[in-house]
Amino acid sequence: MGEVGASSSKHHMIGGDGPNSYARNSAYQKELLVSAEDLVRELISKHVDTDLETFRIADLGCSVGPNAFLAVDNIIAAVEERCGAHVPEFQVFFNDLIGNDFNTLFKLLPPSRNYLAAAAPGSFHGRLFPRGSIHLAHCSTALHWLSAAPEKPNKGRIHYSGAGKDVRDAYRAQYERDMDAFLSARGLELVPGGLVLLLLIGFPDGYLLASDSSIGHAFHTLGSCLYEMAKMGKIGEEEVDSFNLPFYYPSRTEVEAVIVANGVFDVERVAEMGAPMRRDPDAASVVSHMRAVVGVLVEERFGSGIVEQVFELHLNKLLERPILDHTHHKETIYFLFLKRKAFS
Ligand code: SAH
Repeated sequence: MGEVGASSSKHHMIGGDGPNSYARNSAYQKELLVSAEDLVRELISKHVDTDLETFRIADLGCSVGPNAFLAVDNIIAAVEERCGAHVPEFQVFFNDLIGNDFNTLFKLLPPSRNYLAAAAPGSFHGRLFPRGSIHLAHCSTALHWLSAAPEKPNKGRIHYSGAGKDVRDAYRAQYERDMDAFLSARGLELVPGGLVLLLLIGFPDGYLLASDSSIGHAFHTLGSCLYEMAKMGKIGEEEVDSFNLPFYYPSRTEVEAVIVANGVFDVERVAEMGAPMRRDPDAASVVSHMRAVVGVLVEERFGSGIVEQVFELHLNKLLERPILDHTHHKETIYFLFLKRKAFS
């Protein structure tokens, strides 16, 4: 079955439930989940078997909640509706990288719930479950995390946004390898006919993720803070040049091409979801969100001593310059519904 958890990445979201925690900085991801609820119900009502004793769900890249519970509740309600009088028992596996704060996750578990919960720690780019054991795998806003950032030198930047073609190509190649590994692992773990629900953050075909998009702008601003820290002599400039954030935002064509080439799943449905953020956030919540997501990566590379100052700089920059409003949310959210082909 190959190496378990075959990824060296240790990154994870900020744990606990304090002001910088993911648990308190995930409203954006929550809105996406809510916007997909009706579609999830519709598709489950068409595709789930009704004669099962146990229904096993995996939430991949669950973080520390509470969004994971929302997603699971919605899936279970839909399966229950579908199964009528013959409701199966539900077992839910919460997966994330080993550094994830599973303690907080399990402390936040809803006290009254109709499923048995377990953790499945490790990378979803590798095997997590026995063969043919999972009925539905759910993965929401997590697959843009690469197993590793490309090692390409990327002077003046910390992401492919705004970078040259070679850097973008290296990111895309890494994404394709990771996504293929994800699909192959799920292909083994899912029962024939098993379902995969994906919510992905992407961009339209040919869109180069310029700095006038809110994501590009956010990474650009964070990069400029790190370069400022380098100028102050707090960190090395070359260290910043070689620091790349491990996020890739594919186009719909790119994602579908990987799924087809992988060959294990049929694409039952692709939907593009509407603009996720209804309100324009204030500078402090943008920085808070950024810190919850990439704070650990910055700390791993540059040490914990500088993190506070980096995000202080970040906030000041956003306060000085007008923050990008919703017209700059150029990303597209793809909802993909895959079905494991019937061959074993
Ligand atoms: N699904 C949640 C969390 C999204 S944040 C929600 O909708 O709110 C993305 C999560 O994916 C993070 O917690 C991150 O640690 C996790 N993640 C990133 N790469 C991963 C990997 N290779 N394997 C498992 N989890 C991963």
